[in-house]
Amino acid sequence: MAKLSMYQLYQYLPKTDCEKCGFSCMGFANRLISRDIKPEDCPFLLEPEYSESLTELNRLLGPEVEKEITGLIIDQEKCNGCGICVTVCEVNMEKSREAESGRGPGFSDDVVLRIDNGKIKLVDPHSCRRANPSSHICRACAELCPTKAISLV
Ligand code: SF4
Ligand code: SF4
Ligand code: SF4
Repeated sequence: MAKLSMYQLYQYLPKTDCEKCGFSCMGFANRLISRDIKPEDCPFLLEPEYSESLTELNRLLGPEVEKEITGLIIDQEKCNGCGICVTVCEVNMEKSREAESGRGPGFSDDVVLRIDNGKIKLVDPHSCRRANPSSHICRACAELCPTKAISLV
């Protein structure tokens, strides 16, 4: 599958370069790729005329970028929200006292995985052990998920 590019994302942006987001539209697209921001950070994309663009951006950015960065594929349909992956993730444990003690991380905690609306969400793919080539290859979340909702590329 072709790698997602910022030019691909740019075509769905308003292209006004108004800098209300703090960047030019191309800069915004670049930060979308790295997941530093989300499409909703552009105020124009929240307007009805851009609703299709917003949907497309979120579709492109969801599993595509997660998979590219981490090699993890998450099947939301199979996830039952049990939270096992959240509590076994080493990075979550390092970043969140609640996760370390076996509870779900607090919403202010800067974690990799969290439960959102009853489903697993990879909130910070860049912090996943698998995103760092010099780190060991972690498989904990995928191996311990009881419903096989997480698989590896
Ligand atoms: S706020 Fe939206 S339209 Fe304005 S520069 Fe940022 S991405 Fe472009
Ligand atoms: S991905 Fe698996 S382990 Fe994680 S919450 Fe969903 S069902 Fe549970
Ligand atoms: S692969 Fe490892 S570090 Fe990455 S989300 Fe899963 S458990 Fe956490």
